[in-house]
Amino acid sequence: MKVFILKSAFLIIWISCYILRYKHIKHTKRNKISVNQKTTKEKALLGFTSLGMMLLPLISIFSDLFDFASYKLPIVFQATGLVLLPVSFWLFYRSHKDLGKNWSATLEIREEHKLVTKGIYNSIRHPMYSAIWLWVICQALLIDDYIGGLAGIISFGLLYLLRVKEEEAMMKEEFGQEYIEYMSKTNRLIPKI
Ligand code: SAH
Repeated sequence: MKVFILKSAFLIIWISCYILRYKHIKHTKRNKISVNQKTTKEKALLGFTSLGMMLLPLISIFSDLFDFASYKLPIVFQATGLVLLPVSFWLFYRSHKDLGKNWSATLEIREEHKLVTKGIYNSIRHPMYSAIWLWVICQALLIDDYIGGLAGIISFGLLYLLRVKEEEAMMKEEFGQEYIEYMSKTNRLIPKI
């Protein structure tokens, strides 16, 4: 498939995600932060994901700097990437909508924080992370070089592995038994059957 089409599709959804995120940051501003666990490690991980999910794929799209590391995937993989892209966007949108003013880019509890267990959170405990996992897989399928393509999986994978347990510990401390029960009813990334 034409590389131009793949990269354009990626870029359009990428911009849509950032517009959605920007609007959501404004929306959550009024719900002040009461517990902040934004450690140096967390800041470093956020920086690393910005590199892997923003800067490096943009360099791949707009320059030929990484052409020396290019790869060519079979068309079926590229088509899978195109199909998964809107699925990832929908999940990203839906999890922001359901989390509402309880959302934070990092590990934080807000003054009027409520535990969300409805909507998409009824079936998955970390749907936003599911969306981002799908997204970085699409990045690898649609951007055709090892650097811009794989940087998302590596950077987000690291953030996810180092963050998810801490996030759940923070939520348990804040919501106690309510969160423990919620954990028993849901899986982290895929719906519980
Ligand atoms: N891990 C979730 C949310 C990511 S945003 C997901 O992938 O969908 C991160 C912030 O969301 C955390 O700092 C925490 O304060 C908040 N959060 C996570 N799960 C929540 C839930 N079920 N209800 C309310 N807030 C939640």
